[in-house]
Amino acid sequence: MDITGIIAGDEQGICNLIDMTYKGKDPQVGDFIIKTRYSKDEFIKKCEQWGLDLFEYPICNFCRKVIHGMYTISRNGEDVCLDCEAKEKPRKEK
Ligand SMILES: [Zn+2]
Repeated sequence: MDITGIIAGDEQGICNLIDMTYKGKDPQVGDFIIKTRYSKDEFIKKCEQWGLDLFEYPICNFCRKVIHGMYTISRNGEDVCLDCEAKEKPRKEK
C-alpha cells in the first residue's frame, strides 16, 4: 500500500493511496491514517525525511473550504470550489 503526505487546510497527516492503475487512472487519496500537528514548514520537512510525496489540497478563495476533487479556477486566477462557482457572483468576505 502506498502512502502520501497530505495538507488540507488546517489538517495534515498521512493518507493511503488507492491504486487505480487497474482502471488506467492515477491513484486516489484515501482517508487519513495518521493526523499530525506540525507547522506547515515542519510537515514539509518531515515528508522529505520520510521519503513521502506531499500533496496539498487547494482552498476555495471564497468559502475557504478545502476543495476535494473537482474545482475550477475563476477568471482572476483564484481557486474556486464548484459550490461557489455555481453562485452567480461569488464575492470575497472581508
Ligand atoms: Zn467555495
